[in-house]
Amino acid sequence: MSHLRLVLADQLSESLSALTDVQTGDTILMCEVTEEATYVRHHPKKIAFLFAAMRHFAAELSDKGFQVRYVTLNDPDNSGSLTTEVARAAKELRLKQVIVTEPGEYRVRQMMQSWEADLGLSVDIRTDDRFLCATDRFARWASGKKQLRMEYFYREMRKAYHILIEADGTPSGGQWNYDKDNRKPPAKGIVSPPRISHPKSAILNEVLALVGDRFSDHFGTLEPFHFAVTRAQALVELDDFIARILPRFGDYQDAMVKGEAFLNHSLLSSYLNAGLLLPLEICRKAEAAYRNNHVPLNAAEGFIRQILGWREYVRGIYWLNMPAYGGLNYFNTKRPLPDFYWGGKTGMACIKEAVDHTREHAYSHHIQRLMVTGNFALIAGLDVKQVQDWYLAVYSDAYEWVEMPNTLGMALFGDGGLLGSKPYAASGKYIDKMSNYCAGCRYDPQQMLGETACPFNALYWDFFARNRDKLEANQRLPFVYSTWDKFSPERQNGIKTQAASVLDRMAEGTL
Ligand SMILES: Cc1cc2nc3c(=O)[nH]c(=O)nc-3n(C[C@H](O)[C@H](O)[C@H](O)COP(=O)(O)OP(=O)(O)OC[C@H]3O[C@@H](n4cnc5c(N)ncnc54)[C@H](O)[C@@H]3O)c2cc1C
Ligand code: SF4
Repeated sequence: MSHLRLVLADQLSESLSALTDVQTGDTILMCEVTEEATYVRHHPKKIAFLFAAMRHFAAELSDKGFQVRYVTLNDPDNSGSLTTEVARAAKELRLKQVIVTEPGEYRVRQMMQSWEADLGLSVDIRTDDRFLCATDRFARWASGKKQLRMEYFYREMRKAYHILIEADGTPSGGQWNYDKDNRKPPAKGIVSPPRISHPKSAILNEVLALVGDRFSDHFGTLEPFHFAVTRAQALVELDDFIARILPRFGDYQDAMVKGEAFLNHSLLSSYLNAGLLLPLEICRKAEAAYRNNHVPLNAAEGFIRQILGWREYVRGIYWLNMPAYGGLNYFNTKRPLPDFYWGGKTGMACIKEAVDHTREHAYSHHIQRLMVTGNFALIAGLDVKQVQDWYLAVYSDAYEWVEMPNTLGMALFGDGGLLGSKPYAASGKYIDKMSNYCAGCRYDPQQMLGETACPFNALYWDFFARNRDKLEANQRLPFVYSTWDKFSPERQNGIKTQAASVLDRMAEGTL
């Protein structure tokens, strides 16, 4: 019997479980649908990257002799949604069986599960074995544990895949984690190493025209466009990163420098999440570079931990807790997302810098996402759903399985501590230490009160004061409440009044 095999935009891997046993007579279906491109208003670079990568992938499959049915966005017969396109293809091709690989979103999984009843098709949803920890394996690891901590999960993964593990079973270098050697404040004059730019194919030029035409009202600039759009190009970037940039990955992992969006980060997340690169091949190459003495252990281990540890861990948390996870709002926050997240005017240099990078590159690095835009959203009490929608829309690597735990769990502590052990709240002093932003800012990170005081400072204390009932018992915040209690009542009131004024100015658009 012949099958319809659906490949989604983030499933561009030839080893995909839905493609492992393609038989003569099977058709591979790929479609650009308005519903998926607009259910949040994705950054134009993200849409262009995915459409171009999909078209190249489809062309590669066709060249290898597979039967591919590719529906472009502008196809007059395109019905606009995944469900209706599957129904249309199944009817026209007279196919009754659909094979898919599990998607990255609960919403899409529900949609696929409805096809049997709604479309009368038999649907085979296969495990996505591009990930290194299957969801049932994560559930077994999590079962019975009072607290889920990434560090312990990561050690299990190191052992399971024998990465940075010596012959006697001990971690390379004798320790599991070398973060004490990483994360330095920025040294004066550091700049991002130059990055590779790929020649534009005819397919990419066509997609850029299409996206420019259809999505120019979305936040973000389309050109210049530097993304790899094929696996071959993504591999060139991976090898270049390992050769030139990985050796210094750890040093300035948490640093933020004005005008420098990338520093020593890999920029590989978009390729990994879309399937152009696979996590295990990246980890093995990074390990080999360490074993060949090309990369120091702190850099290799720190980088591998992000992929083998954090990336797999957040996916496990997502699937373990959905659908309830999406509705969590631990601090019951409701304030609307201010305009400056969409490029509106602000005097806060750190926010402006992170939003500018986001607009220009559909990228900002982890510490900007966590400690600038995320931290501000946390301490200002912004609506968790609006904040999540923003992160899902503006980054080229954003899919719900990875965006939601990072935003709701890590940045906003909206899950009450399921993912992280304490809120990543910080005052302007942290940003001042880890960046050179404050020197050029209208606000002063050393001041708590007054018009020119850094807004993060009063919001930081106000956040802990107003959420005391939920946070006081947290063992990882030993000094916060003892310090707050040492402030005189006048100082405490002054900070609360200052925080209220910051929030008023935010609402007025004058912050
Ligand atoms: C609020 C918030 C939202 C985020 N949203 C996303 C998202 O939608 N998609 C996404 O891929 N990452 C997300 N992250 C995680 C992280 O910021 C990005 O993976 C990273 O910035 C991508 O840039 P890079 O490839 O240069 O990463 P590098 O710093 O070079 O790290 C290497 C790789 O490790 C992986 N990685 C690192 N940290 C994480 C993490 N916390 N979770 C999952 N994978 C990780 C990525 O695949 C990344 O490519 C988010 C983080 C925060 C705080
Ligand atoms: S002073 Fe405050 S608002 Fe300005 S850049 Fe520093 S941390 Fe950001």
